[in-house]
Amino acid sequence: MKKNACLLYLLTIWTFFISCSAMASGLGVDDENPPAASPAVIYVLSMPEPQTHYFEVEMQLKNVAAATGSKKNGYIDIKMPVWTPGSYLIREYAKNVEGFTASAGGKSVVSDKVSKNTWRVYTGDDNLTVRYRVYANDLTVRTCFVDADHGYVTPAGTFMYHEALKDIPLRLVVQPYKTWKKVATGLAPVAGQEFTYEAPNLDILIDSPLEIGNHKTFTFTAAGVPHTVAMYGDVEYEEERLKADYKRICETAFSVVGEHPCKDYTFIVQHIPPGGGGLEHLNSTTLETNRNAYSTETNYKRFFGLVAHEYFHLWNVKRIRPIALGPFDYENENYTHMLWLSEGCTSFYGEYIQMRAGFYSPTDYLGLVANAITGIENQPGVRVQSVAESSWDAWIKGYRPNENSSNSTISYYSKGSVLGSLLNLAILAGSNGERSMDNLMRFLYTEYYKKQQRGFTDAEFRQAAEQTAGRKLDDFFAVGINSSEPINYNTYFEPVGMQLVNVAARTQDGFLGTATVYSNGKATVTGVRRGSAAYTSGLNVGDEIISVDSVRVTDDLLKLISGRRVGETINVIVNRAGFLREIPVTLTQNPLVSYRLEPLPNQTPAQKALYNKWLYIK
Ligand SMILES: [Zn+2]
Repeated sequence: MKKNACLLYLLTIWTFFISCSAMASGLGVDDENPPAASPAVIYVLSMPEPQTHYFEVEMQLKNVAAATGSKKNGYIDIKMPVWTPGSYLIREYAKNVEGFTASAGGKSVVSDKVSKNTWRVYTGDDNLTVRYRVYANDLTVRTCFVDADHGYVTPAGTFMYHEALKDIPLRLVVQPYKTWKKVATGLAPVAGQEFTYEAPNLDILIDSPLEIGNHKTFTFTAAGVPHTVAMYGDVEYEEERLKADYKRICETAFSVVGEHPCKDYTFIVQHIPPGGGGLEHLNSTTLETNRNAYSTETNYKRFFGLVAHEYFHLWNVKRIRPIALGPFDYENENYTHMLWLSEGCTSFYGEYIQMRAGFYSPTDYLGLVANAITGIENQPGVRVQSVAESSWDAWIKGYRPNENSSNSTISYYSKGSVLGSLLNLAILAGSNGERSMDNLMRFLYTEYYKKQQRGFTDAEFRQAAEQTAGRKLDDFFAVGINSSEPINYNTYFEPVGMQLVNVAARTQDGFLGTATVYSNGKATVTGVRRGSAAYTSGLNVGDEIISVDSVRVTDDLLKLISGRRVGETINVIVNRAGFLREIPVTLTQNPLVSYRLEPLPNQTPAQKALYNKWLYIK
């Protein structure tokens, strides 16, 4: 370790203890018999050889013997989280850990692993230091990465913890690679100490990713809150335009709840191919996009859709949350039925905010709502799984899709977004336009986040929704949330004078029901739609389609079927695991729908008024 680094630690620890003891004396403690010093944890994160994709972590534990019980037990258990909040999959971050060592009083201490993510260090000493390396070569918003250009830290995949020390203030000292000058994070900096941060507890440390390197930054103020945007990647953009549009989106999102709980907010934006997705945090977010994000109007709007979604999460899920989603259990799945609310309604708000901010016209917005309904109704899994089940099983199904997922599951994002639209309409209709989904969000924020400082149960959410709507929402919850039965959409659209119409042409063209990829002259089946001709006839995922009615298939299978009628039988030869099979397939009716929202004839003034309210038409 370098001398100046050592000095930095000493200074850090010293300042930290000064502030701890100042706090203690403030409580009127007798100076003659000072209490045992408070426990403290300091992490030092370095990356001296970034090109090898390793972070090095030093975790200093001070005055921990009493708090952790190590004095009595003779050992202390240090753990690595297995998942990161916002991404509902057990990721086993401990798989990237190597070179774990421990020392106390300058001497190395024996340790061993007692579970997949637990290291037991055999010491009862008050102070100890553990060190380990983290292999970081997976650049996503939920994993860790470091290379010769920059580093990205997902704290759950980087920092170990002790169960009894989750609620104490934690300190992080970052030592960027020698030529790197910047760190972007939502963590609070310690005044006067470069790259040194403090978190009031483990939850906040885990919820604050870091971008480290030489990224560009720009800042703007929205709703009175300073915002920083860290831009990683070689990308062209018009800074002033971006600033103005970020501000517009952030202030519109703010208007939903009307209170901003953050002192500051950080966007980490990584421009990398192929780029896609984001992850929400308490006062920051990481967005992944590509270098073409701002090159066309379509891409630009799509990117700001992601911005709106992730930003709105600072209210919905980070503060307005189901009871299971915080404080977190970092070692196990955290189950909830309400990801349709936390994710789906955030998607609903993403588009609604974009419309309210002028990115989309009301007509564009009607198209987005209709497309979302078309999307879910064309997925056979919508008749199999409810969104409540989809949410509960995110850990084993949503995040672990297979070739049959579209037949057996429905996304709590896409159906949840539709349900957000319907709940908004139900509240508007139930309250004669007096209230909307915004009022429900405000109530949940005020009552549960601010007043009771906890998440809400399924029953409490339902009660709040019905109270806001001013009526029972039996159909919404029984059919929309808890079943896979068809939703009667038009009961929701009728009060705003609209109707959902299926405009898909009903032809006699036969339908096969496969998804196919073509590569090197081979056509391989990648999906078989439940209930389709392919499904009932026994075409399988993985089959290579050799021919249809003796004609060789190399590129467009559908071209060969075009013109065939419903009820016609075609003869398909496939290569299945090296053996040829002949499969007769009788084509069925095309079941796909295509919805559009159209005005009802003879709209009443009340319907027109509610329509204007819904779409913010003045
Ligand atoms: Zn989300």
